[in-house]
Amino acid sequence: MAILPIVRAGHPVLREKARRVRTIDSSIHKLIEDMWETMYDAPGVGLAAPQIGVGLRVVVIDVGDDNPFALVNPEIVKRSGERVLDEGCLSVPGFRGQITRSVKVLAKGIDPATGKEVRIKAEDNLLAEALEHEIDHVNGILYIDYLESPDALVSLSDAPEVRR
Ligand code: ZN
Repeated sequence: MAILPIVRAGHPVLREKARRVRTIDSSIHKLIEDMWETMYDAPGVGLAAPQIGVGLRVVVIDVGDDNPFALVNPEIVKRSGERVLDEGCLSVPGFRGQITRSVKVLAKGIDPATGKEVRIKAEDNLLAEALEHEIDHVNGILYIDYLESPDALVSLSDAPEVRR
C-alpha cells in the first residue's frame, strides 16, 4: 500500500469523465488499498480515483459509521429533496463553501470484494453528501461548480475574521 499525492483543482484528471472499470483485477484491488491509505492519511471521509490521478470510476467512503466501503462504477440511481451544506474537498484544500445537495440519495455500484452490484441508500446525513460528492468526482464535477458566487467559497485561514 502507498499514500499517494492528492491532485488539486486545476489538474485535468479532475475534469474528465473517468473510465468504467471492465475487470476488477489485482490492479484495481491495489488501487483501492492505496485510496484507503491516502484517504485516512489526509484525513478525509471519501476519495475518488481521479483525486490520485487515476481516471477510473472507483470511490471509497468512510463516514465513521463502521461501514467503510469501496464502489466500482458507482452511479446515482435516484435523488430527491434539497438541503444546504457547508462542503469541502481534499482537492480544494484550505477552503469550504455552501452548496445545495440532495436529502435522499440512492446509489449503486459494484462491491469489489464480491464483484456483485450493491445499492446504498442514505438520507439527510454525511453518507448522502459523500455519495454525491465522490460520484461527482468520477464525472469530472467539483463541489465548487455549485457555488452561487466565488464569494461563497470561504478560505479556512480567513474564517476567524469572517466570523468576527
Ligand atoms: Zn472531493
